[in-house]
Amino acid sequence: EVTFFWFRRDLRLDDNVGLFQALQSNYPVIPLFVFDDLILDSLPKNDSRVSFIYDSLSEINDKLHEIGSSLLVKKGKTAAVWESLIEEYDVKEVFFNKDYEPYAIERDTVICELLEVNKTVSYSFKDQVIFEEKEITKADGLAYTIYTPYKNKWLDKYRSKLPVEEFDTKARFFSFYKSDFIFPSLEAIGFEKSIIKVKPHNLKFVVDYQDIRDFPAIDKTSYLSPHLRFGTVSIRKLVNWAFRKNDVFLSELIWREFFMQILFSFPKVVTNNFKPAYDGIQWRNDEDDFKRWCSGTTGYPMVDAGMRQLNETGYMHNRVRMVVASFLCKHLLIQWQWGEAYFAEKLLDYEMSANVGNWQWAAGTGCDAAPYFRVFNPEIQQKKFDKDGAYIRKWIKEFDLGYGKPMVEHAMARDRAIATYKAGIVK
Ligand code: FAD
Repeated sequence: EVTFFWFRRDLRLDDNVGLFQALQSNYPVIPLFVFDDLILDSLPKNDSRVSFIYDSLSEINDKLHEIGSSLLVKKGKTAAVWESLIEEYDVKEVFFNKDYEPYAIERDTVICELLEVNKTVSYSFKDQVIFEEKEITKADGLAYTIYTPYKNKWLDKYRSKLPVEEFDTKARFFSFYKSDFIFPSLEAIGFEKSIIKVKPHNLKFVVDYQDIRDFPAIDKTSYLSPHLRFGTVSIRKLVNWAFRKNDVFLSELIWREFFMQILFSFPKVVTNNFKPAYDGIQWRNDEDDFKRWCSGTTGYPMVDAGMRQLNETGYMHNRVRMVVASFLCKHLLIQWQWGEAYFAEKLLDYEMSANVGNWQWAAGTGCDAAPYFRVFNPEIQQKKFDKDGAYIRKWIKEFDLGYGKPMVEHAMARDRAIATYKAGIVK
């Protein structure tokens, strides 16, 4: 008789709600991770996110070894994996943390039904966010679509709960199932090590966050995004800390939850404009232009540096993400879905809710988005945020004063974008 704890995007042993609850169970707890074929099959063999997940699991496994336990790692279609686990073990209970993305919700519904048929009880918990979508709503119970009132309500609720509870799992580690499962190699899972690595996160500079965050050459933002994506840090610990240290930084963590609740409440935003009034815009969608944008050869240094940083490291500074996204949608009139998909393939911190939300923000099609007539001028952005060109020179090795010829002239592109949007938006 055993209990399972199913790790997914919560790859840590400490302050993990579902794990904490599993360890209170009456049965020994087998920690499990499933490499899901339905997700992996579409990824390149050297995918950097898979490498990061693998390394994080390996760390968890090492810690489990210290207490005589180990991580059970499986690969396959999730339902088939669970079917075979149920055959092999007398599974009494399964614990996991909730995942709010559309695919995950569908998968978990199938697995919970399968478990129920086999008389296994499943329990799911909130772990990934401070507040779930239904906890912060307007007075009429509907989801907020504007950030500021959402944030105010979020903060009121947070203050009333201070400090948010953290979950000390260590005291119950003796409840782990004693085991020595074989930890597979990355190759056995069908992948190889990526040369692109996740940087450690760093909160040292967050005290001055509001003064430095917009300058890509300073590069002192927290680098938390991939860690939050895969749960190698706990959002509760982080928010409890941010609340005491820096409001502006805390606001960014609230943006993360804002976009998560938008995705949950309006799942169509993954592919469709949040505002249907923008559906009639006649995008140019020129494939050669798109290739130049992807490869960082548009002739605009700020755009090219950003795309090269993304291609080389799997990361791009937030200010530059805004510039390249605006450039794609407005200067090139390429629909945001193309850029969103390219980011999804490349970003180490790819998070569906944040990526879709921010792309739709840049395109003007999203909730609480940038107005359509606001067209970033990439040269002015460069003058404001990379005055001495340190960021640009770091990513464009051949950069000099005569660098490239812009693929579109700014004034023309700006007028064209505004006219095209105006003509396409249904009033
Ligand atoms: P910090 O500035 O230190 O911020 C701390 C944390 O706050 C981040 O890790 C993130 O969790 C959250 N955060 C900050 N800004 C935002 C924001 N605008 N929206 C939502 N959450 C935010 N972020 C992702 O995590 N995944 C994505 O796929 C993603 N795609 C983006 C696409 C575009 C076009 C744009 C403009 C932004 C995107 N962002 C995305 C938001 C932001 O750029 C990154 O979260 C940030 O650059 C990550 O670096 P950091 O952790 O050092 O950020």
